[in-house]
Parts: sequence; C-alpha cells; structure tokens
Amino acid sequence: MDGELCRLCGGDGRIGNALGRSSATCPGCHGSGRRADTSSGFHDVTKTKPSHYRPEVRPGVAIPKGPKGPTTPEGTQLALEVSASTVLAEDAKARLLAEIVNHESTHGRCTKTFIKKIRKQARPAP
Ligand SMILES: [Zn+2]
Repeated sequence: MDGELCRLCGGDGRIGNALGRSSATCPGCHGSGRRADTSSGFHDVTKTKPSHYRPEVRPGVAIPKGPKGPTTPEGTQLALEVSASTVLAEDAKARLLAEIVNHESTHGRCTKTFIKKIRKQARPAP
C-alpha cells in the first residue's frame, strides 16, 4: 500500500526540519500521512529523503501579453469618459479605446490634442 502514503513525508505526516524545529506538519498531506491528489504535480521524490522536497513557485495564471487598456492616468481617465459616454455606440467606444491604447503606445502618453479629439466624440454635442 505504498502508493497510499504521502510521498513527501513517507506517511508519518511530518517532515524533519534541520533549522531548529524537529519536525513540521507535512505540506503534502497536512499531517494525514496519506498521499493527496494534489501531490501528483510534484516530482516523485524519495520518500525517505524529504529534504529533497523544494516548493516551486509556479504561477498558475499566465501573464497577459501586452497592455489591454491605457497605462497612463490621462489615458485611463479618457477611457473612462469614453466608456461612460452616452452618445457613442459600443463599437465606437471599442474603436476609441483601441485608439487611446494605440496612441499611448506610439506617443508614450496622451497629448492634449488627442484628448480633446476623443472627448469631442465622447461628449454630447452642445
Ligand atoms: Zn506528508
């Protein structure tokens, strides 16, 4: 029944700690000594050598590629105004938001002229 035992601690639910504490609750089985399903992602370490166990930092979420929205305060504010606009259709809003992001990526910021141009479209005509 070896397969039932926790592979990190070998089934005793505790792992040795050379840094002072004599033992600590096994992070693999939380002290139960039973192999948890979540341990399947770990390497098959030798059961009698828990010191081989190294927690790995694995980001579960992929970092999105490229900015999805404005990165400058001006651009963010402008995007909010566009989104809140009552005169723009949804596709027009999407186009302007893309324009803001694009403008930022080429200019590094939103120029006053550009902000005026976008606001003119986002605001109702007087
Ligand atoms: Zn364990």
